[in-house]
Amino acid sequence: MSVNESLAQNCYHPDETSHITLHESLSAEQCALLEKICPAGLFQRDASLKEMLHFEGCLECGCCRLIAGDGAIDKWRYPASGKGISLRFS
Ligand code: SF4
Repeated sequence: MSVNESLAQNCYHPDETSHITLHESLSAEQCALLEKICPAGLFQRDASLKEMLHFEGCLECGCCRLIAGDGAIDKWRYPASGKGISLRFS
């Protein structure tokens, strides 16, 4: 089973607002790092090159927090109870 097939088995219950917030101004290097390390590929720059996080698909792995650190991540917490990802294994 591929990684994408495995991830597709999970259930997502996104909250209304993101459980992760980024600092307003990130360097190009910080943006590139976030885009590279997120295993779900949730970081993307918009047309104005502002870094966006599509939090709805978050795996709650913490890689962005650990690797990019407080210099890029303003807030990181788990989603509210009952929200976020429900991992499925087969
Ligand atoms: S916690 Fe993991 S899946 Fe969620 S945004 Fe950070 S790196 Fe991506």
